[in-house]
Amino acid sequence: LADRLQNTIQKIKGKGKVTEQDVKEMTREVRLALLEADVNFKVVKDFVKNVKERAVGQEVMESLTPGQQVIKIVKDELSQLMGGEESKIAVADRPPTVIMMVGLQGAGKTTTTGKLANLLRKKYNRKPLLVAADIYRPAAIDQLETLGKQLNMPVYSQGTDISPVEIAKQGLEKAKEEHLDYVLIDTAGRLHIDGELMDELVQIKEAVNPDEIFLVVDAMTGQDAVNVAESFNDQLDVSGVVLTKLDGDTRGGAALSIKAVTNKPIKFAGMGEKLDQLEVFHPERMASRILGMGDVLSLIEKAQENVDEKRAKELEEKMRSASFTFDDFLEQMGQVKNMGPLEDLIGMIPGANKMKGLKNMEIDEKQISHVEAIIQSMTAKERQDPSIINAGRRKRIAKGAGRSVSEVNRLLKQFEDMKKMMKQMTNMQSGKKGKKGKG
Ligand code: GDP
Ligand code: MG
Repeated sequence: LADRLQNTIQKIKGKGKVTEQDVKEMTREVRLALLEADVNFKVVKDFVKNVKERAVGQEVMESLTPGQQVIKIVKDELSQLMGGEESKIAVADRPPTVIMMVGLQGAGKTTTTGKLANLLRKKYNRKPLLVAADIYRPAAIDQLETLGKQLNMPVYSQGTDISPVEIAKQGLEKAKEEHLDYVLIDTAGRLHIDGELMDELVQIKEAVNPDEIFLVVDAMTGQDAVNVAESFNDQLDVSGVVLTKLDGDTRGGAALSIKAVTNKPIKFAGMGEKLDQLEVFHPERMASRILGMGDVLSLIEKAQENVDEKRAKELEEKMRSASFTFDDFLEQMGQVKNMGPLEDLIGMIPGANKMKGLKNMEIDEKQISHVEAIIQSMTAKERQDPSIINAGRRKRIAKGAGRSVSEVNRLLKQFEDMKKMMKQMTNMQSGKKGKKGKG
């Protein structure tokens, strides 16, 4: 997420002794990193203050590994910033539990409604009813009905001729009749916040008295997501936030600001378009993820035990000089495959924590072969210089590999991220050699 933060962490990690000056520099870097990550500036100010207060304390100065302590403080505070504990989903005393989904158009409400229904059934063994209360776009009703079919779950819809308030009420009645225990109401969104939409949402809220109002916001919109959250919360007093598209968010600004700005917890995170890609949001894990950096050196160590030493050295050199190409990547993947449990290795690859699908170490051989297929569909020139891969080429590669264009895009992006990361690490390494830190 925040590359800069990871750099800073890496710098301080090695320190045996941390002076007040170090803490100052560190908090300055943290401040810049957070601002760069598009975190709300007030949030940043408080955050830095908290870290400073704790880090300058005696406890740190006298500790054996002060560098690590400071990192721990930053991590704790980050986790705190995002709510600390994970939050639970409401259960009504008398079922059904009513959940209303709100948010701007395109934020991912309808998709999340389906995902949440899936999660409720899978994780909590609940029986949900999906209610289609977005009457302004007929396609939205179809979309929810399709999701219902995919999930084999009931959907309550009444077309577009009756009011969303009425549909929500009827949906609730229906769920009672059928003894279903959750009602998920998918509402309409607009491109921007407007009064008419809010009035309607307030009316639905009053009509069905929801146990939860989940505000769905798109993490990729950064600071805008936070502003949106603020206005929705002002009008509807939402109970929690679902942050979608976290899989594509490289900065993490929204995740870090929302709780502090709205005082409402992020309850779930959308990690992809598929129905099983919704996760309970864990502030602590997210903090680790933000700070987590793969250890390229231990990867190389492990590689050296298993792979031809000379070749490993060459790859290491390439990684450091950032002249790593897709050919090298392909070769390395072949070697990694022979190295045993992938889970152990993935965590060591720089940037792996940012890669979609690799997050929970949910990596399988299939994914690897997809990546291989994509790289194998590139020409020699493209593998050496991925920057020439334009839209036309992407299409061709996707076709050749039998994968989707978005998968090709994702791989290219991941590869770029990885190279960037390597470059930063190289810079850091040479910085370390050049001058020893004060202290
Ligand atoms: P709505 O207008 O708020 O109902 O938004 P939709 O549910 O129709 O979603 C808009 C688009 O965002 C769709 O193409 C979804 O597939 C996509 N989407 C939703 N959630 C996620 C997510 O967590 N990750 C990614 N990558 N895409 C998502
Ligand atoms: Mg929708």
